[in-house]
Amino acid sequence: MAVIYADNNATTQIASSVLNEMMPYLTEYYGNPSSMHTFGGQVGKKIKEARAQTASLLNATPEEILFTSCGTESDSTAIRAAIMSSPSKKHIVTTRVEHPAVKNLCEQLAKERFRITYVPVDQNGALDLDFLYQSLTDDTAIVSIMWANNETGVIFPVEEIASVVKGKGIAFHTDAVQAVGKIPIDLKNSNIDMLSLSGHKIHAPKGIGALYIRKGTKFSPFLIGGHQEKGRRGGTENVASIIGLGAASKLSQELMTKENTDVKTLRDTLEKGLLEKIDHSFVNGVKERRLPNTTSIAFEYVEGEAILLMMDQFGICASSGSACTSGSLEPSHVLRAMGVPFTAAHGTIRFSLSTYNTMDEVNLIIEKLPPIINTLRNMSPFWKQNQ
Ligand code: PLP
Repeated sequence: MAVIYADNNATTQIASSVLNEMMPYLTEYYGNPSSMHTFGGQVGKKIKEARAQTASLLNATPEEILFTSCGTESDSTAIRAAIMSSPSKKHIVTTRVEHPAVKNLCEQLAKERFRITYVPVDQNGALDLDFLYQSLTDDTAIVSIMWANNETGVIFPVEEIASVVKGKGIAFHTDAVQAVGKIPIDLKNSNIDMLSLSGHKIHAPKGIGALYIRKGTKFSPFLIGGHQEKGRRGGTENVASIIGLGAASKLSQELMTKENTDVKTLRDTLEKGLLEKIDHSFVNGVKERRLPNTTSIAFEYVEGEAILLMMDQFGICASSGSACTSGSLEPSHVLRAMGVPFTAAHGTIRFSLSTYNTMDEVNLIIEKLPPIINTLRNMSPFWKQNQ
């Protein structure tokens, strides 16, 4: 059975051009980039190229890119670096809808010595900016706000927020794991101090990420060890994956227009088709600016997990919230923060597309899903009660 992969916010397929770039560095060129010999040195040169490619995607300089093992490590490194760099400050500002990489770290820091402010969102998923700005104090060590939400695709105005935050002399970090490669990012002309990204969301392998650290930002390493990454992260480099991230960054730049035209058309067609054919359904966050590839659709009075299992029989892969929270029957914290009613939050499915998807696949989802929802609703006591 063919797989219809509509779960690209969970992870993406490695692009063949990315894999081709990586392969020689898993086989032939296995030298250590820190070695003095030419054999290792040539690997170092290729890492330099990958750093420049990654920087170029963000309009940053290569020196501002630190390679990490994943988006989660980038987030932890950024937030911990900021609090270690200003030891007298004990306040962190973030949002109610962050990925667990930031959310759970903040919950942990709250058990230590930090006070955390969680900025709320409204029913559309928009951030309460007045609340955010009023929460900033002399004690605030860092503000960490995601660029785009992984579940709904809602985009936050992080450039505007960064300007206000920086104006008060506070460090600003953004988790841009879902935004990078999907919308243009220009760090040179922004006030963002640190930005996290992850390779496996942009057709590079899993286990590679990067943290942008603006030149001049106070920094303190998370992994202490060798002199790699200019002493900002110890540990021999994950060479092939770094090269993969560089190649994927280059590819993302080439595909940016396609992402915002072709992929967006696929997403809009999917959304329209499903809403037309399935009553009692709506799109979470539809009134806000959203990522072009993502739609989070609530099908009222059904269980998202049951929908996923039935779609799986047709090879359709999607997600019922973020991949990291699936397996739990609690509705997602993002939808709860938006005040989505329980009966709708439970039946929410996230479809996230990529340039590998086709209109035929979208049409197949539009054909297969309505009878699935019908079947499940006919089995649901909530549905019967509400008819
Ligand atoms: N931040 C966001 C917004 C994400 O969507 C994800 C992954 O889904 C992460 C962070 C974590 O990235 P990684 O899986 O590379 O640790």
